[in-house]
Amino acid sequence: MAEWTEVADRVFHRRYEPLDISIGVVAGDEGLLVVDTRCNPREAAELRTDLAGLSPLPVRWVVNTHAHYDHAFGNQSFADALIVGHHLIPRHFEEYEGKRLSDWTAAPGSWPQYDWTDVVLTPPSVLVSTVTDLDIGGRIVRFHPLPPGHTDTDLVVEIPDARAWFLGDVIEESGPPMYGSGSFPMDWPGVLDSLAALIRPGDLLVPGHGAAVDRSFLEAQADVLRVVADGIRQSFERGEPIESAAERIVSRSRLPIEIVDAAILRGYTLLSLSGTARP
Ligand SMILES: [Zn+2]
Repeated sequence: MAEWTEVADRVFHRRYEPLDISIGVVAGDEGLLVVDTRCNPREAAELRTDLAGLSPLPVRWVVNTHAHYDHAFGNQSFADALIVGHHLIPRHFEEYEGKRLSDWTAAPGSWPQYDWTDVVLTPPSVLVSTVTDLDIGGRIVRFHPLPPGHTDTDLVVEIPDARAWFLGDVIEESGPPMYGSGSFPMDWPGVLDSLAALIRPGDLLVPGHGAAVDRSFLEAQADVLRVVADGIRQSFERGEPIESAAERIVSRSRLPIEIVDAAILRGYTLLSLSGTARP
């Protein structure tokens, strides 16, 4: 059964089903900062109960690592806290998550894997576009909004005094990296390279799904994502159909076919839009 694990000094991690989602907590003298809010208000209410069991301190801050539903659809249950997120989350909500939610609400039976009853899309109340420090009482938490990668709303949470980081889905440990709604397959590996330059060997990294890892894991995942990105670019330039491109990229990256298919579809769309790779 899931429990809180103190992965660094007053930094807690708990893995929740469904989706083996990582929830983080950083305790300061003034209160708790919670990382991500789960898939819906029922899961968020369970999380709040578990937070009350962890500490008598109030939840004063929440941060979304990105806009995807499993990380942000519980936001409405934290209306009493400041919710921090990447400045592009409202736009992403409009383009992707809001549309998915209204489609689901109109016909919930079409997507039985989701339970979005009573979800009220709630964007962060504090939007950040540059590296930002927050004093949570006796310690600093640092937010690093990232350029487009897993989404265009990725934001990494650093706890400098504990040498701990919550990375959201820019890396995943318990499953393959996901090219979900609004991903940027060709830019993602470079984002991880820049991030690796900020992280020291021995720092603790908590991925959006799965167990804590270290910098070498992030570097290895960057290499896999680069194989995918290079493969997409080369295939697009050759005008290759998705099927044969997928076969080659799967054999080189060792990622599952459905992951690679999603990456190529999205990559080809972005490359067509940019119009730079083909005459
Ligand atoms: Zn995600």
